[in-house]
Amino acid sequence: MKTITGREENYSQWYLDVIAEADLAEHSVVRGCMVIKPYGYAIWEKIVSIVDSMLKEMGVKNAYFPMFIPQSFLEREKKHVKGFSPELAVVTHGGGNKLSEPLVVRPTSETIIYDSFSKWINSYRDLPLIINQWANVVRWEMRPRLFLRTTEFLWQEGHTAHASLQEADQYSLKILNEVYKKFVEEYLSMPVYTGQKSEGEKFAGALRTYCIEALMQDGRSLQAGTSHNLSDNFSKSFNVAFLDEDGLRKNVFQTSWGVSTRLIGGLIMIHSDDKGLVLPPKIAPIQVVIIPIRPNQAILDAIKLIKSDLNGLSVEVDLRDNLNPGEKYYEWEKKGVPLRIEIGPKDLENNKVVMVRRDTGIKSDCAIGNIGQIAQEMMESIQKNLFLRAEEKRNLSNKNASSWSEFEHGIKTGGYVFAHWCGEEDCEADIKKKVKAVSRFLPFEAEEEVGPHTCINCGKEVKEVKRWAFARAY
Ligand SMILES: [Zn+2]
Repeated sequence: MKTITGREENYSQWYLDVIAEADLAEHSVVRGCMVIKPYGYAIWEKIVSIVDSMLKEMGVKNAYFPMFIPQSFLEREKKHVKGFSPELAVVTHGGGNKLSEPLVVRPTSETIIYDSFSKWINSYRDLPLIINQWANVVRWEMRPRLFLRTTEFLWQEGHTAHASLQEADQYSLKILNEVYKKFVEEYLSMPVYTGQKSEGEKFAGALRTYCIEALMQDGRSLQAGTSHNLSDNFSKSFNVAFLDEDGLRKNVFQTSWGVSTRLIGGLIMIHSDDKGLVLPPKIAPIQVVIIPIRPNQAILDAIKLIKSDLNGLSVEVDLRDNLNPGEKYYEWEKKGVPLRIEIGPKDLENNKVVMVRRDTGIKSDCAIGNIGQIAQEMMESIQKNLFLRAEEKRNLSNKNASSWSEFEHGIKTGGYVFAHWCGEEDCEADIKKKVKAVSRFLPFEAEEEVGPHTCINCGKEVKEVKRWAFARAY
């Protein structure tokens, strides 16, 4: 039987083993592409259903736009095309003929969607316009990794148009805080920092990029979602304008925002252990597995009753007769099912079952009559424990750096290093060359320290009173 490589031994191999053994996904014959298997896709479906209902509650409407974009559209926004051109897949032929204009397979859909917006928006009464689409996108990936970096991935991308820059900024922050941070923390038990990206790391074509970032178990940061204030950069290029109340024609101010299948990569890396996948109950496709030991009719009848007491939870009863209970425990552990219930003839005699939590491995007896209530309590407890465990781990590895040697040491040992920094692109590139790390974000919630400060790398005077967060990243 294949085992899972230990995290300490080889973290990258551990990650791949966890995915393979939980049967989540596999590499496709096309390099960089991923086949998402039913169990992995079930996790994505839960993400989609929860995020979609959160967005709809905020009044967001779904639509769908074509995956092919005329190449000339991308070229209209200079920074946008510069940022994305190394990653583009381009279609040159269709129906056996060379196309008069090449078509780009969408790497993101600002350009094709804003072409529609320019037709849909006429007056201030049409604003704000708030649209989302669930789609696949393609960014040619040189160093692919399942879920984290794949050439084709699934996501939602939201696109909005507003009458003022201030309203657009507020909206992009609202999505970040009230949808992304809330969803990731409450459902994925993934503690995140919120903040703003540097000039060098922001979205190509944006005025400002806001992000949520989580720390993985190996001390690297993962960008888990972004929300961009696009200002009027795209509306100028795509002529998205409205007639305002004062009778003047003005360009709209826009936002775009997205989360992707990358969230599953983060979910795997932040909670799982050397036994395999660990899933928070709120996102687990199967929340409870019941395993009978030497089942007879009485045990099967008891299981029926237990199952009805677990009403509201997603329960799997493993009745396979070709595996022994130990093999079944091992398999469901690898699949990250939060709670296992074991019941054998002796247990039934004593009117109880054995419960085993996946997050801690702790075993406890539970009277059959209490299973419904205890299982619900355990779901909440596991959900909370996973969050607190990840948060504690992250906080323990946080460091402040006041000198280059502290900074360098901090980056090498993993976790976030907070330091005063000039924010300049050249300086960031220099830092990247030296320690293979870039800035992750300027935290929204950080202590303001009275300056003047000096840049951790170049020594220039820094006006910013907050420290930037740096880390190696996925
Ligand atoms: Zn600097």
